[in-house]
Amino acid sequence: MVALFAARAGAWLRKGLCMDAGPIISATAVVKTYRTREVVVDALKHVDFEVMPGEMVAVMGPSGSGKTTLLNCMSGLDSIDSGDVSIAGQLLRTMSDDALSDYRATSMGFVFQAYNLLPVLSAQENVELPLMLAGTSSKEAQARAVEKLELVGLGDRTDHLPAELSGGQQQRVAIARALANDPAIVWGDELTGNLDSTNSAEIMELLTRLNKEQHQTFVIVTHSEEVGALADRIVRMNDGVIVDDGTRGDDSSASAGSSGTTAGAED
Ligand code: ADP
Ligand code: MG
Repeated sequence: MVALFAARAGAWLRKGLCMDAGPIISATAVVKTYRTREVVVDALKHVDFEVMPGEMVAVMGPSGSGKTTLLNCMSGLDSIDSGDVSIAGQLLRTMSDDALSDYRATSMGFVFQAYNLLPVLSAQENVELPLMLAGTSSKEAQARAVEKLELVGLGDRTDHLPAELSGGQQQRVAIARALANDPAIVWGDELTGNLDSTNSAEIMELLTRLNKEQHQTFVIVTHSEEVGALADRIVRMNDGVIVDDGTRGDDSSASAGSSGTTAGAED
């Protein structure tokens, strides 16, 4: 009983529904440098970045400006050289690799440009996978996978293999998979990059609906101004620096993203 209560309370906190909560993502003076044999790339140069619970933030900027690096460093997929990243008040650098992996598996969802579905598994089995990895019983995993597929409008495609689905439908399965564990934060990197404008708009409509209904936080890297305009806020990067965090001169996070003026040519 106590365990059940703790699990429910944990889920509630993870979702960031606590009204007076601080930022769910907070990065201070983050530096990330890639060193190859030939070159040194300062991919993030003292980046400060904050996202409030329930916000939908678009990260935009030219190719090579550091968007993917920012996402990877904020989500703990990649290490940083200096600075600090906190998620839900917890400093990532104080967490062991195992704790961080567990945290990512239970509290974060990822959606990439390539759908990365396992071709031999059905839509439902693809969504069950992260649940099984997190230790959910197979009966519960099946029920939740169906629920998530219904949420993304694919309740009638649960038995289809990825090859039997359109690109837009495959990305919906990938989104259902990212949502399987009811993560507090969903990270997307060019998630509409392989889709035509109609499918891209449908996917964004879905994400904005999920963001509102489920109160989850979304951080979406995109080079599409149409996609960015649907976010609460646009953060613009150039050459490893945030040149506009979308909040300047504006006390609300709900100002739709037309505030940026600094974007260069998008990739
Ligand atoms: P974006 O996602 O905005 O296109 P990235 O974050 O992928 O940009 O890359 C930022 C910079 O870091 C680029 O100059 C890129 O070449 C470099 N970079 C990214 N990943 C690596 C890596 N693993 N090794 C070396 N350089 C990298
Ligand atoms: Mg990128």
